[in-house]
Amino acid sequence: MDVNQMNVLLYADEGFELDLRSLVNALNRRTSFVSFGVGTAKYNSGGEAIARPESYDALPQDLLDEAEDSLRTFLFTNTPYGNNYFFQSSGNIVIVSFYGWEYLTRLPLSNGAVYMIVDNLAQTLDSNYRHHPATGCIYDFLADKTGVDISMRLAHMCPDCLSRLSTKKLSEEHQRIFKDIKTLLDDLSQASKWNDDILKILENERSESANVPKKTGYEITPLDFIPESNDEGYIDVSREQIRDLCNYYVDLRQENYEPHEKGELFETFAVAFFGLIKGWIVLEKNANMEDCEIDIIYDITRGPTLLREKLGDNLYVECKNRSKKSDARDISHFAMNLLSRKLKSGIFFSMKGITGYQPENWRNTTAAYKRIIETSRQLDVTILPIVGEDIEYIRNGGNLVEHLMDLVNRFVRI
Ligand SMILES: [Zn+2]
Repeated sequence: MDVNQMNVLLYADEGFELDLRSLVNALNRRTSFVSFGVGTAKYNSGGEAIARPESYDALPQDLLDEAEDSLRTFLFTNTPYGNNYFFQSSGNIVIVSFYGWEYLTRLPLSNGAVYMIVDNLAQTLDSNYRHHPATGCIYDFLADKTGVDISMRLAHMCPDCLSRLSTKKLSEEHQRIFKDIKTLLDDLSQASKWNDDILKILENERSESANVPKKTGYEITPLDFIPESNDEGYIDVSREQIRDLCNYYVDLRQENYEPHEKGELFETFAVAFFGLIKGWIVLEKNANMEDCEIDIIYDITRGPTLLREKLGDNLYVECKNRSKKSDARDISHFAMNLLSRKLKSGIFFSMKGITGYQPENWRNTTAAYKRIIETSRQLDVTILPIVGEDIEYIRNGGNLVEHLMDLVNRFVRI
């Protein structure tokens, strides 16, 4: 099991109105270990009362495959449970019913979704304890569902549960999950106690920090286009995704962030950028915030066939947002990482560029770029360089899948 992060996948039932993409973006900005994603498979409860095991047994195979390695996978629905529960679970899959939500609380569904997620994360630390009756603690059983209102407003662990957990020997992974739980509970109570939508609060927090007066040399034109998808629909060009991507990119180029803030922004940006490719699933993510470096390993077996044929089932992506260009030593280090992980291909993504590499004059190989070509030949791996110009190209409507294919083909022609 990977210890660099824990993945949590979210799905919404057909017709269930919750903006999962925004939710995931907001949560990922706040957590450091648990990483949230939106599943690509379709979930359809069919509208009949949810029951265990029947409803779980009926889940489609592609969804189960995607969910397999997740810490938890949440399926949100308006369909009620036959027993009127909020949720039950089977393995790592949790179907959460928001049936009758408007009669339980005036707080929005997004707050409820965060509550249910954190409740289940808390169960991963200690699955043997529940309060009956409700106390407002995250370990409440909530037989009376109206208790969820005060639980979201308080969003806390009671002193008894805190001391119970403190006597447990939590593994390092559990300690890191616990840290994320604390952050999310703080956010949830902060929003809920003032009747606010947690998504709006987290959004505002971000734009306020972006509004700190600063001097910036960049003139950035906002996008007013929607890139076209190709016939196979490989690029997910939903307006929100592209907009998010561009927003992060614009933020990244501002000067007024602390190093770790910049690191977090860059991480979200890098994940969003390659997340434009449908079917690429993050297997592992390791970020060094201070250095603005992220390693991501993708399972690309469900992505575009052409890329998979050229690059293999798993792809290693190293992302750097340093103030200087990457050099030959960085390339050697990258190659060692590829080898030690037994991967046959990788993307070396450096915002500031790679010494000796000019995207418009790629046949001319010198310096670190030369090292890329040589290393790839010697080790029989494919290393694709991506730099700021490539990002601009995609941002201006280029097709990322076709562009990566182009990079692969160039590589063969050098
Ligand atoms: Zn408690």
